[in-house]
Amino acid sequence: MTSSAELRASFLDFFRARDHEVVPSSSLIPANDPTLLFTNAGMVPFKDVFLGRDRRPYRRAASAQRCVRAGGKHNDLENVGYTGRHHTFFEMLGNFSFGDYFKREAIAFAWEYLVDVLKLPPDRLWVTVYTEDDEAASIWLDEMGVDPRRFARCGAKDNFWSMGDTGPCGPCSEIFFDHGPQVAGGPPGSPDADGDRYVEIWNLVFMQYNRDADGQLTPLPHPSVDTGMGLERLAAVMQGVHSNYDIDLLRRLVVAAAEATAAGDLTDKSLRVIADHIRSASFLIVDGVTPSNEGRGYVLRRIIRRAIRHGYRLGQAEPFFHRLVAPLVGDMGSAYPELAAAEERVARVLRLEEERFAETLEQGLRILEGTIAGLAEPEIRGDVVFKLYDTYGFPVDLTADIARERGLSLDLAGFEREMAQQRERARAASHFGTAQEMALEFEGTTDFTGYEHLADQATVVGLYRDGA
Ligand code: ATP
Ligand code: MG
Ligand code: MG
Ligand code: MG
Repeated sequence: MTSSAELRASFLDFFRARDHEVVPSSSLIPANDPTLLFTNAGMVPFKDVFLGRDRRPYRRAASAQRCVRAGGKHNDLENVGYTGRHHTFFEMLGNFSFGDYFKREAIAFAWEYLVDVLKLPPDRLWVTVYTEDDEAASIWLDEMGVDPRRFARCGAKDNFWSMGDTGPCGPCSEIFFDHGPQVAGGPPGSPDADGDRYVEIWNLVFMQYNRDADGQLTPLPHPSVDTGMGLERLAAVMQGVHSNYDIDLLRRLVVAAAEATAAGDLTDKSLRVIADHIRSASFLIVDGVTPSNEGRGYVLRRIIRRAIRHGYRLGQAEPFFHRLVAPLVGDMGSAYPELAAAEERVARVLRLEEERFAETLEQGLRILEGTIAGLAEPEIRGDVVFKLYDTYGFPVDLTADIARERGLSLDLAGFEREMAQQRERARAASHFGTAQEMALEFEGTTDFTGYEHLADQATVVGLYRDGA
């Protein structure tokens, strides 16, 4: 069996031997980039290099980058526990060319690594390109000899990659692994491609444009390459398992979560959520985020509270989540020394948040259960969602997570009405008069924080909708 650690090293060695500078993982908090909530791909630390605004002493790089997809354009929070391949935290293996090589070499490197180094059988690999990308199609079919029966052209939704609403983007080509007929799902490009049988493992992005705030595409100074392969998905392939939760790294966390909650069934969805969330919560704290009611801190709070609720669902009403930090450090501390160094602090922050939420979780759940028991329609009223949020500290997505388990939906419009009313009340109670507010705006003051807390809740509802 090839361990995740061996795969990480083998990938970086492969590209080091091909003149790539191996660059350590950057923080989950993008440096100087207010457009992005978290580092959501390996290219993020290189964004300015692609745009030609920053120069590096190398033109080829490779990395294993820690990523979080729990908000913004790439949001997989709602997928966790429901698919075996989406995490809020994962590691992305990537190789990059900054105006050096382009499509031909990127494709050849990827194929060589998968087929010659890892010895994956080519008849289990599927390839897609962007509909209009005849050049990439011809490289795959004519030069690499990929079987046209395992090849498809796809539209922009899957095969035109963007980091966010603005920033570098371009057509891409993806490689899928066929986990076999025992798993349901159709091949890439087919109508039932959303199943689990053909799992996307590697995306090769041919970075060619910058998208500005108006949606306008401008060519980059140099055509470049950005690739990303999920380490956990690759490990699942190499370890002969279908779900990422059965690979070495996550399996140990699932077992630790079961021990900490006394859960019996190792396949319980809640254990997977907890195993996933301990990774994102811990690494976010390592990178300087603390639970709060705003912005990044609120995403962290939502992740932690969700994990706590899943522990509660398994019967664990005492603080348990912080006890998973030690096994996480055991698994990932040597690859990420910054995690090992912050172990005590991470556990302390988590424990504090657990204690804080414990006071209201039980009461909130009781109210929710009472409401659910009396429901005439399969929808939870907006005022209940609001009360849970406002009085009991239930982030909306946490209530939605519970509702989904019961096949119920939330009245989000009603919730937003309650939010608007609260905002009105806050405005009326504020000692700022309208004239003063206008004066503040006129002075160009951007750091007026009077309404920031509330405005941010509205964003959070937006984030939740993104992922739904
Ligand atoms: P999917 O279609 O499966 O959601 P994606 O197209 O959103 O994946 P990309 O943005 O192309 O993913 O990212 C590159 C690679 O990173 C993917 O091919 C996959 O291996 C990995 N990856 C993406 N999202 C996740 C995730 N949430 N958890 C684990 N690995 C991921
Ligand atoms: Mg995705
Ligand atoms: Mg995809
Ligand atoms: Mg993709």
